[in-house]
Amino acid sequence: MLKKGFSVIAATLALAAAAPGYADEATDASANALLYAVAWKQTAAEYRALYHQGYNIARDRVDAALAARKEGDKPLAVFTDMDDTVLLPLPYWSKLTGEGKAFFDDPIWDAWVPQNDLVIAPGAKEFFEYCKEKGVEVFYITSRDQGEKTYEYALGHLKTLGLPFADEAHLTVLTNSSNKEPKQKELAEKFTPVVYLGDNLNDFQRKYYIKGDVAARIKAMEEDREEFGRRFIILPNPTDGHWMAAVFGESEPSDTPEARAKLVEAAKTVLR
Ligand SMILES: [Mg+2]
Repeated sequence: MLKKGFSVIAATLALAAAAPGYADEATDASANALLYAVAWKQTAAEYRALYHQGYNIARDRVDAALAARKEGDKPLAVFTDMDDTVLLPLPYWSKLTGEGKAFFDDPIWDAWVPQNDLVIAPGAKEFFEYCKEKGVEVFYITSRDQGEKTYEYALGHLKTLGLPFADEAHLTVLTNSSNKEPKQKELAEKFTPVVYLGDNLNDFQRKYYIKGDVAARIKAMEEDREEFGRRFIILPNPTDGHWMAAVFGESEPSDTPEARAKLVEAAKTVLR
């Protein structure tokens, strides 16, 4: 049996050697750097549980802030990111990996956005409805760019998902920058932010916008370790985000041999 199996493997290897395309295809399929991360997003109950965990903590924080509120205090608010925070772009990732892509692809993303083919983040709607019920306003701040319809598409996403505060007073779309701090500071003049929700540290503060230096970005996060699960609620995202800019120097690197080599190096790096 073993011998027979071995001969099949040997024959396969011989075939692969004789037909170069065969080996290349097998290598390409198994070398898709995104498959583990996307498969996890698509299937893991743990992935979805992390959203419930984040939104449950956020609700506790809102309850605590409401209980501590005094007459004359500014009204309370929640500042939230959109993609991978209130909505999960799972159909986009399915399409991307279905086409054999191993890196973020702008044309596929830009084609997906107007389709309104969305998955709500577990726990998000219930939390935002709770906020509304308690008089806590929710402000969505996202960084996107699909041309002149960017804002319309983003607002359409919130409305499609039936989320409260889906209106122009509560949605900010940054098309020229990913820096959310100026808008957050402007809102904080009128409201006291209870929690910030995001899948990217940059959703909380600009200080985490560090490129090409993984250790420096982790150090910046550690300086604020007391904030996580308190003021900052971080949600999971292994497929994209600014963590990639720390590795690659940019958050959406092209699929090049250099980028793949950096990914291999990143996987080997152990930070203690
Ligand atoms: Mg996001």
